[in-house]
Amino acid sequence: MIQLHGLTKRYGSFTAVDALDLEVPAGELFGFLGPNGAGKTTTLRMIAGILRPTGGTVRIGGIDVTANPAAAKAKLGYIPDRPFIYEKLSGAEFLRFVAGLYSQQGPAIERRMDELLALFDLAEWKNELVESYSHGMRQKLIISSAFLHRPDVIVVDEPMVGLDPKAARILKDLFREYTRRGHTILMSTHTLEVAEDVCDRIAIIQSGRIRAAGTVAELVAGAEASGQRGLEGYFLQLTGERAARELVEVLDA
Ligand code: ATP
Repeated sequence: MIQLHGLTKRYGSFTAVDALDLEVPAGELFGFLGPNGAGKTTTLRMIAGILRPTGGTVRIGGIDVTANPAAAKAKLGYIPDRPFIYEKLSGAEFLRFVAGLYSQQGPAIERRMDELLALFDLAEWKNELVESYSHGMRQKLIISSAFLHRPDVIVVDEPMVGLDPKAARILKDLFREYTRRGHTILMSTHTLEVAEDVCDRIAIIQSGRIRAAGTVAELVAGAEASGQRGLEGYFLQLTGERAARELVEVLDA
């Protein structure tokens, strides 16, 4: 459902995303893990069609995002890492605005809005201006907007940041149920437990390249084969994070 071929983004001489090849089939929940600056957000923004690749292609359901952006975006919901929303709209007005972008209006979409707002405990805030929402409430509103038109593919950047434990649990269950129904979700996360908990497959990205990809069980087996215990050890080994011993040396220097 999502196909990346040679996907590349350069800023001047710096390569943020380096010839990524990846296929995520329908019904899969795929996770991007990687350290700060690995290229996760850049990749997700190119997939969502809001950042133009320097090279390579993105296809959503077979449609090239650069060549045919409107048709590709119609199949897609994008949840950014920071919830910027026009503050002078109410939650309901924002959701109607987003539904309108996908040419949807009327009683069915109003019902779906109400269901999503109730799911995230926002029902009583429906007619309040977004300026009165907390960070987590804004995040929940943006998440609701991405599910409104039932897109085939949802691309989501750091979905759990700012959510309370109840909302995080609801979101994980929603992701699972959504992919079980044949939709596709690609998410980035820093939280290894979240990736282990919900993702069917994971890619570990560093310096714009995929260093390892597979199911959690496959990655854990790879970790053990290279003398590491569990996903965390493997992640740290692949991404070259500093060992505690090195940190002590830095602190003592
Ligand atoms: P984080 O986990 O910290 O959010 P990330 O994996 O999402 O990181 P990106 O935001 O994709 O990383 O950034 C990848 C690299 O590209 C970083 O080195 C970043 O500094 C660089 N970069 C991103 N946007 C720009 C830009 N507009 N101009 C120049 N460099 C950029």
